[in-house]
Amino acid sequence: TKKNSSYAASIKAKDRANNLHSWSAQKNLDPKVITKAKGIYYWDHTGKKYFDMSSQLVNVNIGHGNKKVIDAIKEQADKLPYIGPAHAVDVRAELATKLLEVAPDNMGKVFFTIGGAEANENALKIAKMFTGRNKVMSRYRSYHGATYGAANLTGEPRRFTCEPGIPGFVKFFDPYTYRSPIEFASEQEASKYYLDQLREQIIYEGRDSVAAIFLETITGSNGVIIPPQGYLKGVREICDEFGILMICDEVMVGFGRTGEWFACDNWDVTPDLITFAKGVTSGYVPLGGVLVRKDIAEFFDDNTLMCGLTYSGHPMGCAAGIATLEVYQEEKLIENSRTMGEVLGEELEDLKAKHPSVGDVRYIGLFGSIELVKDKSTKEALVPYGQDPERIMSKILASLKDKGFSTYSHENIIIIAPPLTIKAEEIKEAMSIMDQVLTEVDEMIN
Ligand code: PLP
Repeated sequence: TKKNSSYAASIKAKDRANNLHSWSAQKNLDPKVITKAKGIYYWDHTGKKYFDMSSQLVNVNIGHGNKKVIDAIKEQADKLPYIGPAHAVDVRAELATKLLEVAPDNMGKVFFTIGGAEANENALKIAKMFTGRNKVMSRYRSYHGATYGAANLTGEPRRFTCEPGIPGFVKFFDPYTYRSPIEFASEQEASKYYLDQLREQIIYEGRDSVAAIFLETITGSNGVIIPPQGYLKGVREICDEFGILMICDEVMVGFGRTGEWFACDNWDVTPDLITFAKGVTSGYVPLGGVLVRKDIAEFFDDNTLMCGLTYSGHPMGCAAGIATLEVYQEEKLIENSRTMGEVLGEELEDLKAKHPSVGDVRYIGLFGSIELVKDKSTKEALVPYGQDPERIMSKILASLKDKGFSTYSHENIIIIAPPLTIKAEEIKEAMSIMDQVLTEVDEMIN
């Protein structure tokens, strides 16, 4: 209607005049005005409906508009919206207890933050305090957040504004077997190759100098890179050998995304610290944190924990977190992620078989990606690393969005991570849009 479009025009004008948007040159941005979201969908002001096939920023795991979580936030706002982190308060104590119930058994306590970046910042500090060491290692194909320390952990181009970087932040390569220069006969062989390299690099950095190895258990925004069999166990062994803390960043992959509570559960690997955010509240209010191994938590019985945030364990976040964890359990969303993940996997395999432009598909639970290529046999990427002057990927995403499929991409890779509430027929309907758009991409490379 006319009223609707003038309302949208005024919102957009104010937004363009007054808001700075993330990770973008501002001039040509054309953000949609969103008025409603429910379940796996959201709507713009014209009434157009979109499949939210990335759960926004892979955080709205329980879907939009969940009444239980909204009511919990409202109740907490009425009761006690804020009290400083030095106090004991029911929701903070309760959420920590609940998180430790679903986390790996070796975890002892939780330190709450506001989001993922601060979770990694605080994990960095905890690792340095506990080990007394200075260096930290992380991988090139990684994203750990945009604050200065987390951006220094990050390996991909989003770290570049923080160059030349903090001394002692060392990068290593991840086992990205699809693009490895070596053809491995098995996943185990690939793991061995990358683990041997990591071990040698640690020795050259100084056996006793590395406090922690940070890794996304499954590399997320850099393309859903799933570790080969034996890799994470091997990292665990290397960490044990050299007294290094293994820190799994589960900000994106925690809370059912991969069909388990935490992605490390897929390989029965127990990290020393786990950082989390996103799915813990499913985005309804901000919250993050660090799960800390029992004896590391006990170290701070006598040593001062030099970490603090005004909003550490914000009661509104904790109330939302408790309700969100209950939703995962009551609606069996971890199980649904696993079973619907099989449907998504079949759809992705079909697309790979059908489309010359699809070089690789990767998936685990409801976490998937499509890697676009110019040529399947040479694996030449549709857009080279760090370069897309013709904005080809933006055009592909725009075409998807135009047909009602909302998601995002990284380099030549499209991410697919719908809310864990999605049903089989909805996956099929959404992926038929993807099928159409991939036909357009096939024509592009022809
Ligand atoms: N770590 C990972 C693996 C992430 O995917 C993200 C965000 O996408 C972050 C950390 C940063 O979290 P936040 O944006 O909440 O600071």
